[in-house]
Amino acid sequence: MITTSGLTKVYRSGGREVTALDGVDLHVREGEVYGVLGQSGAGKSTLIRCVNLLERPTAGTVTVAGQDLTALAGRGRRASGALRQARSRIGMVFQHFNLLSSRTVQANVELPLEILGLDRRERGRKALELLDLVGLADKAKSYPAQLSGGQKQRVGIARALAGDPKVLLSDESTSALDPETTRSILGLLRDLNRQLGLTVLLITHEMDVVKTICDSAALMKGGRITESGTVAELLATP
Ligand code: ADP
Ligand code: ADP
Repeated sequence: MITTSGLTKVYRSGGREVTALDGVDLHVREGEVYGVLGQSGAGKSTLIRCVNLLERPTAGTVTVAGQDLTALAGRGRRASGALRQARSRIGMVFQHFNLLSSRTVQANVELPLEILGLDRRERGRKALELLDLVGLADKAKSYPAQLSGGQKQRVGIARALAGDPKVLLSDESTSALDPETTRSILGLLRDLNRQLGLTVLLITHEMDVVKTICDSAALMKGGRITESGTVAELLATP
């Protein structure tokens, strides 16, 4: 479902080069929850940002649901419609939720639906359905500031599901939450994975997150994958 091949990213800033990704080969199967575990600076954010092409790789390819996104991006403006459509099928959940404070919960969830061009009624219907799915139907008219951290992340997840994605990317989505809230958000991600057949790729610096929810995982260090396999295999490694 997600494959990266020789994925490389070199940042150039102030005459210095930083190799954030150094030939990463990743293979995430359809319907699994896959974790990338590593310390700060390992290259995890860069990896996930390359998978949805928020960041342009220096070399290598990214394929999602059989579509070579790097090739689409490389074709420039002519392919931008196709690229936008492909990217709308990839949901993204952020560590700090990235909600717009001036918009209600429902209007936050509607945002990607506006971009997809749905009319007002369709947007409203779909947003309420998604809020119901994450257990927040009664907060539709609230503002983000009125919600707890866990509730904000539920809104972030509802928004990420708006484009009916096949794939959900999670960038440290529980790192800002306390342990109990973390468990409930991981439980929600697991339920969505099972109910919707959603493939989940998450990055984290916490082994507990991997143990709690992942089927498979990769360990990342210095821009490379040093080990990968099922979680059972990785835990059995001395
Ligand atoms: P992680 O998510 O595992 O903490 P990152 O992908 O954020 O790792 O960073 C990997 C390396 O790339 C780090 O050395 C970081 O400083 C560097 N890096 C990340 N983003 C940029 C950028 N925009 N410009 C320059 N260097 C960057
Ligand atoms: P994270 O918690 O995801 O590792 P960071 O605080 O490392 O986030 O990075 C936040 C933003 O700063 C990201 O967009 C990242 O690409 C950028 N960044 C990280 N390291 C550097 C760097 N050394 N130089 C320039 N930008 C960086």
